[in-house]
Amino acid sequence: LYLEYLRSEKVDTINHVAASLAHEVRNPLTAVIGFLKIIRNDTISKEKTNHFIDICMDEIKRTEIILSEYLSISKPSKQVYEPIDLTRLLNAIVDIMTPYANMNNVHLVTSDYGQEINVSANPNEMKQLLINFIKNAIEACTSVSNGQVSIRVYRESRYAKITILDNGIGMSKVQVDRLGIIYFSTKTKGTGVGLTYSYQLIRSMKGDVSVQSEPGKGTEFIISLPLLD
Ligand code: ADP
Ligand code: MG
Repeated sequence: LYLEYLRSEKVDTINHVAASLAHEVRNPLTAVIGFLKIIRNDTISKEKTNHFIDICMDEIKRTEIILSEYLSISKPSKQVYEPIDLTRLLNAIVDIMTPYANMNNVHLVTSDYGQEINVSANPNEMKQLLINFIKNAIEACTSVSNGQVSIRVYRESRYAKITILDNGIGMSKVQVDRLGIIYFSTKTKGTGVGLTYSYQLIRSMKGDVSVQSEPGKGTEFIISLPLLD
């Protein structure tokens, strides 16, 4: 019964996302068509043309992000789990996310645990999961000065713990309670899909996630996953 519930929840989620996806993709496309029409009419300055091209690129990029987030949750999750060293994976992900942090004037730091921490997971899903949390942490810091995101991984009894700490805008109690609910987003360009997907993954790995947050101070997410050895 529980499995059936999970499956139907997933199907619901996917259908729900598909419906809104059509809508979300349509708006940027309409905007891009509008700008292309203006650009073709070559009475406008080179400067304006470039500005419109930038807007079009932003819109297309946003569409691309929405689509890839959708694909990541709708992909039938082949449960091919394999041993993954979280220390190594996190170093790789910090490399991937550092340009995004730099672009947003946020300092991304990680401390090397210097020891393997193995869990059983699907590597692509695990990557996507960690990127979602780190991306949110960076985005929470864009409006503060000296924004910093620190990521730590360590062992605690039979669990691998990953903490993502930021000194960003933080969340109210009401916001914290809504985390993981599909489409909950406080961002003008947010999708509210990332954490829903991540929470589902953590649950499917028999892990857990907890949050501590304070408005104006920052947020800490703690992810626990069963250790492999
Ligand atoms: P999105 O990032 O597209 O808004 P997510 O599912 O990734 O969607 O996150 C949902 C919401 O959770 C965000 O819009 C934000 O309000 C809140 N949130 C998540 N992580 C943080 C964080 N580190 N600091 C503050 N708010 C956060
Ligand atoms: Mg997000």
